[in-house]
Amino acid sequence: MCGIVGYIGYRDAYPIVLKGLQRLEYRGYDSAGIALFDDKELKLCKTKGKVADLKEKLENEIDTSGTLGIGHTRWATHGVPNDVNSHPHVSNSGNLVIIHNGIIENYESLKKELIKRGYKFHSDTDTEVLVNLIEDVIKKEDVKLGKAVQIALNQTIGAYAIAVFDKAKPNEIVVARLGSPLAIGVGEDEYFIASDASPFIEFTNNAIYLEDGEMAVVRRNKGVKVRKIKDDSLVDPYIQELQLNLEQIEKNNFDHFMLKEIYEQPSAIRDTYRGRLLAEEGIIRMAGIDDNLERFLNARRIVIVACGTSWHAGLVAEYVFEDLARIPVEVEYASEFRYRNPIINSDDIVLAISQSGETADTMAAIKLAKEKGAFVFGVCNVVGSSISRETNAGAYTHAGPEIGVASTKAFTTQITVLTLIALKLAKAKGSISNTDYHMHLQELETIPQKIEVALKQNDHIKEVALKYKDARNCLYLGRGFNFPVALEGALKLKEISYIHAEGYPAAEMKHGPIALIDEEMPVVVIATRKGHYEKVVSNIQEIKSRQGKIIGIVTEGDTSVRDLADHVIEVPDTIEALTPLITTIPLQLLSYHIAVLLGKDVDQPRNLAKSVTVE
Ligand code: GLU
Repeated sequence: MCGIVGYIGYRDAYPIVLKGLQRLEYRGYDSAGIALFDDKELKLCKTKGKVADLKEKLENEIDTSGTLGIGHTRWATHGVPNDVNSHPHVSNSGNLVIIHNGIIENYESLKKELIKRGYKFHSDTDTEVLVNLIEDVIKKEDVKLGKAVQIALNQTIGAYAIAVFDKAKPNEIVVARLGSPLAIGVGEDEYFIASDASPFIEFTNNAIYLEDGEMAVVRRNKGVKVRKIKDDSLVDPYIQELQLNLEQIEKNNFDHFMLKEIYEQPSAIRDTYRGRLLAEEGIIRMAGIDDNLERFLNARRIVIVACGTSWHAGLVAEYVFEDLARIPVEVEYASEFRYRNPIINSDDIVLAISQSGETADTMAAIKLAKEKGAFVFGVCNVVGSSISRETNAGAYTHAGPEIGVASTKAFTTQITVLTLIALKLAKAKGSISNTDYHMHLQELETIPQKIEVALKQNDHIKEVALKYKDARNCLYLGRGFNFPVALEGALKLKEISYIHAEGYPAAEMKHGPIALIDEEMPVVVIATRKGHYEKVVSNIQEIKSRQGKIIGIVTEGDTSVRDLADHVIEVPDTIEALTPLITTIPLQLLSYHIAVLLGKDVDQPRNLAKSVTVE
């Protein structure tokens, strides 16, 4: 959820740690802090607010020298966001300094014990309990920091990525992970620690991704020793060569990451099907499906588990899988699935979708599905993420890093992967005619180009946004394949502009939401020529009769809706199952422009986090 960064080496740690925190801002946070050590003195600065606030405070208050440093962006779980609760936290002796991402669930009982033993607490966090627990172990058992961390973690229940150092022995940082990501960048005589590789990408291409249940002692000049937290066994760390580059994670010339990512969709989708979709030859190559084809073909059903935007991609997939591959599909919120004792057996395939691959509820759903004997397939964006490792097989979306908290390219690339899977299965099952199969493949190849055309409506969409930016409510309607797109359009508006919005299947409008319609209510209707067009046009008539303001998403050249709607936004024509990939684009742009016009923080909307690693 939050971000952690650390450095130990020969350079000044401060600029590296600060820049690292800025790169991790996309993860969502409410406060930030940095601790630096210069061989004599520990320097600590933390504040509620943004990394920019921290920078200002810190540069006024402390000297920034020191070749050891750790930094944190906090997303509060225990104790309100304030300066004191911000990390890093320091142990009672003043020696141990910790940053922590996650939750120590049994912190209360541990805290009581420590209070009995004379420890004092200054914050409300679970993290301060952990750092004092480690200190207590050092005192009681006379062990080194690494061992003490291990003993302490074995007494905790919960999830964590931590980095901790002892200012009395400033040549090492001890890190550990369970449930939250942690990467170690390996340089020449210097090491970097971070929640993902973006903070250290310009320094090294070599990274060790700790697995759940592993810890490492990172020693200045002496390398990294990885162990299992439970049984102390040594692990031979796998040093991975990174393929990220800096340009990918910066904003280029766009005002916001979200806009950049909206515009990246044509190339992101090309990257998704690169090497997989061979339209000319009529072949779809996906190792995760090829290797498990029989299992997919014999599956009783596919149960999709996901959260948020990924859940909407799952709903699109339900329509596509059932229509093309004739495999029954159910789509579940991961958070509901995991707690409702679902009926799952070994004939089922559970398909988990998560951009970050770290979503806590989706992870828990996967574990439950595996316990019940299901085969679990993952669709993730982040390579090497926890979900991608936990699943039996999977397919990456290869969308590149998504920094904007409101998901855009992750959604369309998820739909692309899921459509490829559906087409592949449809072909193998014989549920699609040869002609249709080839037509879909060829059409899929043209989607990036069609999205480029849809993006040309940007200026027009901005004008529409200007008209509706002050709306209090907004309704999004769609039918069939475009019903989930309506849900996603409404979610985008809520997330970044804080305007209340609802997505509905257009025909359901009469069963409730129609009561809301008056001259104040903008209604966005996806009315492309494919997919129950006449029925949607009737729905538009019904809105018009009640003076609602209609924004129609229509196929190029449409005239019927144009006559009825207050505004139309045209998108290129495509085959029905692929329309969500295109109709989504104007809805993303509409919410983006409304949020910008309202002066909202588009890339980091309030209360939201990019990667939801707590349930
Ligand atoms: N549980 C810790 C806190 O509330 C860490 C939260 C986080 O992951 O940022 O301070």
